[in-house]
Amino acid sequence: MNKVDVVVIGAGAAGLFCAAQAGKRGRSVAVLDHAKRIGGKILMSGGGRCNFTNMYASHENFLCDNKHFCKSALSQYTQWDFISLVAEYDIAYHEKTLGQLFCDDSAKDILNMLMSECDKAGATVTNQCDVLQIDKTDAGFTLQTSKGEYQCESLVIATGGLSMPKLGASPFGYKVAEQFGLTVKPTRAGLVPFTLHEQDKKVLAELSGISLDASASCNSTSFNENILFTHRGLSGPAVLQISSFWEPGEAVEFDLYPNGDLYEQLHKAQQSQPDVLLSNALAAFYPKRYVQTVLPYIGIENKPLKQYQGKSLIEVAQAFHQWQLKPNGTEGYRTAEVTLGGVDTDFLSSKTMEAKNVKGLYFIGEVMDVTGWLGGYNFQWAWSSGFVAGQVV
Ligand code: FAD
Repeated sequence: MNKVDVVVIGAGAAGLFCAAQAGKRGRSVAVLDHAKRIGGKILMSGGGRCNFTNMYASHENFLCDNKHFCKSALSQYTQWDFISLVAEYDIAYHEKTLGQLFCDDSAKDILNMLMSECDKAGATVTNQCDVLQIDKTDAGFTLQTSKGEYQCESLVIATGGLSMPKLGASPFGYKVAEQFGLTVKPTRAGLVPFTLHEQDKKVLAELSGISLDASASCNSTSFNENILFTHRGLSGPAVLQISSFWEPGEAVEFDLYPNGDLYEQLHKAQQSQPDVLLSNALAAFYPKRYVQTVLPYIGIENKPLKQYQGKSLIEVAQAFHQWQLKPNGTEGYRTAEVTLGGVDTDFLSSKTMEAKNVKGLYFIGEVMDVTGWLGGYNFQWAWSSGFVAGQVV
């Protein structure tokens, strides 16, 4: 039998960070994970370079049914606190874009740092450990696991969401929440590529590999980054971002000339080169292959510019400024970066992440109904929520 002050289930970003914090306070901590390899998701993150935080992170970059829930944890442990820790470990990093900080070298640096923090704090990390049963006792919790029984005062659930089952994702955390009477908000894949209906896919798959500047909008939210046509559908940062706001059956609107007025440009071209074909005029703004494929697809005839009279040039510009696409669905948890929904934050203290109805039980990281935008926000939530729980467990 193993008796410790704190058991953390899940050795991902949030679990490891929380364990190190609690260990530093002199608490004995055991982290248990069922995966063969610790930190698989961290190693894959940011294309292998881990976008570990965002310089502009604030509560406004998170989806959560309670808009104010994230404020306390994000202010108790900010992006600047984590950046200082990264600097302490001499990990070289850079801003890629929009405040997103990536390791210069490898995501391994972040994982090594977390493991070293746990090590220094005396927190043990055990992999390939299945938790079979959890019981509440007067003194805390008893856990039956594939590696023996554990007793603890505080139990932290840091088992993440459902994204990437190959990396160890499981619904374990949601089941524990339900076992103890907490509500779980419906879950779905977020930050995920769209799949297309057959009629769209037939045409757009030909554009595979083309990336365009675009603003994607849905449900009063817009992201101006870029989109990428793939052989399966549509991806790229603007698509991943808007996928978290999209509901099945809805259309997404893309502005494919987001930083200017395409009509103005075409009108100028019409005056200076009236005999030029529309496709050639558009090729000044888009890849030729894209223009050739897309004109017939959106039902625009390819004629010399002088033949677009009256409102017809405005209509051409509008077709690019307001391209409406109804996705068929998403690629789902197989490729999603995050899981929307999760443990209902109404049941948790925003200051400590402790369950309001069960003393000593905590939920941190992605298992909760808190989902960040693309850009380092999800890791910042793992650090902030892990930190605040780590101060009190
Ligand atoms: P996780 O990191 O998912 O950790 C959960 C842990 O719990 C895992 O180790 C898992 O094995 C374990 N576990 C699950 N079930 C059980 C069980 N039954 N018993 C025991 N253990 C269990 N976010 C960013 O901010 N920046 C990025 O660059 C970024 N890139 C990403 C790239 C990819 C491909 C993916 C999938 C996600 C990316 N994310 C990124 C999102 C980010 O990785 C997650 O939001 C973050 O890891 C969540 O941390 P967590 O500790 O809550 O959960």
